[in-house]
Amino acid sequence: MAREFDMGKNFCHRCRYCLPCEQEVQISDIMTFGSMARRLAPNVAVILTKDAMESMDNCTDGEECLLKCPYHLAIPEVIREQRKNYDAVLAQS
Ligand code: SF4
Repeated sequence: MAREFDMGKNFCHRCRYCLPCEQEVQISDIMTFGSMARRLAPNVAVILTKDAMESMDNCTDGEECLLKCPYHLAIPEVIREQRKNYDAVLAQS
């Protein structure tokens, strides 16, 4: 089994092969919100990620990104989860 699969189905490698998204969803920035939020104060994390996280609202659950991701990540599912995480951080900021 390839090494990348050992890192789980949610770990984004930021390769950006999934981009561009037709809906202009900033996929890789959303996918990695959790690591950003862990390292920063809530208000700083919100300032730095607001545009990317709000672009998630454009997601139409298309499959183009799924087909392009070499790591077979469940992108729509993960970005929806990260959007919930963002909303929680936003509430603390
Ligand atoms: S193609 Fe997959 S691993 Fe690469 S940036 Fe997009 S979601 Fe992340």
